[in-house]
Amino acid sequence: MDRLAREGVKAKYLIPPFVTMTSPSHFTTISGRWIEDHGVIHNMMFNTETKWKYSFKTTLNKTEWWDNGVLPLWITAQRQGRKTASFHYPGGGAKYKGEAVQRSLVESYTHPDSNETEWRENIDIVMNWFTKEDFDFVTLYYGEPDNVGHKFGPETENRRVMIQQIDRTIGYLVEAIERHRLTEHLNVIITSDHGMTTVKKKPNVTEILLTKYIKYKDLVKFDIVDYGGFGMILPKPGKEEALYEALKNAHPHLHVYKKEEFPERFHYAKHERVLPILLYADSGYNINGQLIIYFNKGDHGFDNDLEDMRTIFRAFGPDFKKNHLAEPFDSIHIYPLMCKLLGVTPEPHNGSLAITQEMLVDQQPGAKIQRSSALQNTAIGLGTTTGVLAVLFVTGVTYTAIRRKKKQSADQNSKSEPVNLNEIPRVAL
Ligand SMILES: [Zn+2]
Repeated sequence: MDRLAREGVKAKYLIPPFVTMTSPSHFTTISGRWIEDHGVIHNMMFNTETKWKYSFKTTLNKTEWWDNGVLPLWITAQRQGRKTASFHYPGGGAKYKGEAVQRSLVESYTHPDSNETEWRENIDIVMNWFTKEDFDFVTLYYGEPDNVGHKFGPETENRRVMIQQIDRTIGYLVEAIERHRLTEHLNVIITSDHGMTTVKKKPNVTEILLTKYIKYKDLVKFDIVDYGGFGMILPKPGKEEALYEALKNAHPHLHVYKKEEFPERFHYAKHERVLPILLYADSGYNINGQLIIYFNKGDHGFDNDLEDMRTIFRAFGPDFKKNHLAEPFDSIHIYPLMCKLLGVTPEPHNGSLAITQEMLVDQQPGAKIQRSSALQNTAIGLGTTTGVLAVLFVTGVTYTAIRRKKKQSADQNSKSEPVNLNEIPRVAL
């Protein structure tokens, strides 16, 4: 990972969206939209009438949870003639307006998160998709170091060992790109969905337990709690005010809001799926409902402004500058960058290419790249705040242009001409 900082772009850190949770954050990366706009507001699909909550993995296959009118990049790129695939990336298994991602592998229920041999095999599979099948865009997801961080905590030897495994896998990736002669054709973005912090437990702290402050059977119709530092409650009819009053000053490390008063900076609460009462806890405090049944030693879901919720961004390939240290930015800005690399006209999104295009070589041709002394310092500690690792491969514009040219002579389709990247409109919402 240090080598990548020298041979590519590294951001000081990446700010995930709120809620700092796997599926919502991944869908922001792949759509450039805030969570309140794309509507994937939680890892679990739920139904307040049937009281059903579907697990993270079950929800991965529920098209109705993902398909809210916002198109992820796979679909947009496909519609513009690109060939795209998702390898275990959250949301890749759903259909959008009836359209599936051209190739999609969804994690099975029993998929092991940490099998290094399988990680390498997956890289080889993806390389073959590029070389033998002409794919333009692939998202590849690994569920570590999230899993080990939950189980043992982020500041542990187990986690350090996992970071080393990830580092070796990135090395394998670089080597595989060279072996498949893709070095000059493939742009790679390595990022993740959130950080992680150590869970605070008794006797060190007084844990948050909602049932200490409210009578569940009188006030609560449905809740989503016991899931890290974030929760939502649907009060029984007419009980919203009573519930809010009972909880708002209940615990010094619990923040309670009515949906319409939830801080705007989170860009979270406007979606219709968000329940009327929102809760978030200070760093490390789990929100427990009626029992303390949550055993995680590390967790996320907290305020995306917290240092521990930040995550990584690395990028390398023919279109990225080398040894470039980028300022921190919100993950919504990755989407327009990927669109530019693919030569695809973006859907309306909340990001801005102005934030990320300075990473690209063609913005300042011949510009002298200065070596930043901050590089060495910020490279340390990378693993301890990293959640799920998502690797996004984008074939370069140069490569795309060459391929389009070849195809053009065959089908004379003027629409498949390479797009003038300076003319791609940015639609900001
Ligand atoms: Zn997690």
